[in-house]
Amino acid sequence: MQHSKYPHLFTELDLGFIKLKNRVIMGSMHLGLEEARNGFPKMAVFYRERARAGVALIVTGGIAPNFAGTGGPLFAKLTNRRAAKKHRIITDAVHDEGGKIAMQILHTGRYAYHPFAVAPSAIKAPISPFKPRQLSPKRIQKTIRDFAECSALAREAGYDGVEIMGSEGYLINEFIAPKTNRRSDDWGGSFINRIRFPLELLRAARAKTGDDFIIIFRLSMLDLVQKGSTWEEVVQLAKALEEAGVTIINTGIGWHEARIPTIATSVPRAAFTWVTAKMCSEVGVPLVATNRINSPEIAEMVLAAGDADLVSMARPFLADPELVKKAEENRSDEINTCIACNQACLDHVFERKPVSCLVNPRTCHETELSYFLVEKKKKLAVVGAGPAGLSCACIAARRGHAVTLFESSDKIGGQLNIAVQVPGKEEFNETLRYFHRQIELHGIELKLKTCATEATLVSGGFEGIIIATGVRPRIPEIEGIDHPLVLSYIDVLRENKPVGERVAIIGGGGIGFDVATSLSYDGPSLSLDRDAWCAHWGVDKNYENRGGLTSPLPGKSGRTITMLQRKKQKMGANLGKTTGWIHRFELKNRKVQMITGVQYLRIDDSGLHFIAKGKTQVLAVDNIINCSGQISENALFQSLEKTGLSVYKIGGADIAAELDAKRAIDQGARLAAKI
Ligand code: NAP
Ligand code: SF4
Repeated sequence: MQHSKYPHLFTELDLGFIKLKNRVIMGSMHLGLEEARNGFPKMAVFYRERARAGVALIVTGGIAPNFAGTGGPLFAKLTNRRAAKKHRIITDAVHDEGGKIAMQILHTGRYAYHPFAVAPSAIKAPISPFKPRQLSPKRIQKTIRDFAECSALAREAGYDGVEIMGSEGYLINEFIAPKTNRRSDDWGGSFINRIRFPLELLRAARAKTGDDFIIIFRLSMLDLVQKGSTWEEVVQLAKALEEAGVTIINTGIGWHEARIPTIATSVPRAAFTWVTAKMCSEVGVPLVATNRINSPEIAEMVLAAGDADLVSMARPFLADPELVKKAEENRSDEINTCIACNQACLDHVFERKPVSCLVNPRTCHETELSYFLVEKKKKLAVVGAGPAGLSCACIAARRGHAVTLFESSDKIGGQLNIAVQVPGKEEFNETLRYFHRQIELHGIELKLKTCATEATLVSGGFEGIIIATGVRPRIPEIEGIDHPLVLSYIDVLRENKPVGERVAIIGGGGIGFDVATSLSYDGPSLSLDRDAWCAHWGVDKNYENRGGLTSPLPGKSGRTITMLQRKKQKMGANLGKTTGWIHRFELKNRKVQMITGVQYLRIDDSGLHFIAKGKTQVLAVDNIINCSGQISENALFQSLEKTGLSVYKIGGADIAAELDAKRAIDQGARLAAKI
């Protein structure tokens, strides 16, 4: 029967030898469990939960076909039958739930983070300290055999297929693009020679695995680097892959070293599906659209427009394992949407920490963080409906506790309400929507505009009181900080107080960047306009140049803005590893000045006085915005502590330093899981 709301999404796809039950692929993600102790049993639980909730095909994180191809020391590879056996627990778990799973084969090429990296030519990547060795023709043939052998081992391990990673600037992509292939032998020079490597390894993998095995090729359809492929070359390769026996072609967008964001929250939803759409008329094999597809509505829109045959969502399955099931049951308002922040997933990969998810801390921690139904229902009070309080209240109520949630303002969300005001951070609205729905679903008694006091809490008969009262802005000890020129970030982002044309910002942390972004921005958010966003970043939708690049538009701002911090390190050093560069680029593009290593002197009618590089200076400004961090709002906790009641504190009320939504939601969830 056709699904009424998402008819295209819930249409079967017959691949001839195998059927996919709907059009959703869970895209490949490195989980950090591949190399962890007991990682395989943990991954089995992780993938089982996603398969149970109806995703048609799962693609695992990248597994290397040989040692040189591993991403870093001790990264996972599949090179023998003993290793293949370890994967059985994963494939069995997925098949038990009626799911299908393909293993991604990833050779990282010159992106390998170890001294044994190899590449078509010995050219160092700008994002790796290791210069790769050039592969000899003999080693190329060996690598092809390794890919084929790895595919056969994947089949032996029970996988329904493999995905050959041919995009994002990894080894295969490095052979294809003139940027990284400077060879003059049979593997370089002409385009035909440059695509010989992917075609030969695809043929070898097909020969080893048979015709009834899914082989997906992730094709870089838009390199977003200078000297990348032309559109004509991409099409020619796609056609050759089809002829060589590929089952599905997945879309790869942007090399990792590209200076254009491709998956960050500020990238508009479905910003790159036009590329896959362009390919649709060129080949007959099913095509997969990717990047910033984070809801069933967007997925349905892409499929209904005929822009692809399948959609791949990766991080959205970290945020909500039941995404497909909820869509199928018309409960998409219950989906915990991925906000594309990268904070707990990709950033963790780069920090060599197990992956998690900002909005769903249980992700990849399924075996240690469970939300079991309670045996004894308790009456709980949660004070403060910011991220920590919401997370705690919703999970405690879902487990069966009777929860009253007190919030002094007229809405839930706390600091999330500030984040949504920042251009490019609109996705946080989804988190607010999710929590609203959870409050309804689990019957939480929400008391807005209610300041919970010691007296009301003590007399309320609560068996547990959770203080999540958050933070308040720090007032730095600078002479004149109470001058009328000075505003707090709350005045700017929440209260929308008027701000003049010349602005100084004290503090270069996340909030300082948010304020500078908002104040330097003119017009509607680019994240809501795909064409304008592409033009802004220099993505050439006409695809006239190699790599799909054109000149980015110079940024303009109606204000002169200067950010200051006392530390000498670069501004925004603590922003996310995968997104900090985007924020810095955007502000520099809009001519925001950044001064580090300052010593503040005073504020008076003439502006902000400070010393930098040994010189005393004054910034004549209309406003000075205080973004110098926060301190805990925990007076209520301190008074309740003395009453002998069971009182807990979480989020900013507990520790204000370096607080972000990730820590707040995680702490709330962990308390709710055990209370
Ligand atoms: P923050 O990251 O701790 O930054 C505070 C800034 O104020 C620093 O630049 C600090 O630099 C300065 N500062 C601290 N004490 C000061 C003092 N006494 N006088 C003058 N300046 C002082 O805090 P935040 O910007 O309020 O952010 C709060 C949390 O939210 C952080 O963990 C942040 O990462 C997170 N957040 C993240 C994002 C994101 O996009 N990922 C966005 C918003 C917020 P100096 O000490 O060097 O002067
Ligand atoms: Fe999405 Fe952020 Fe969760 Fe990663 S951490 S899955 S980007 S919401």
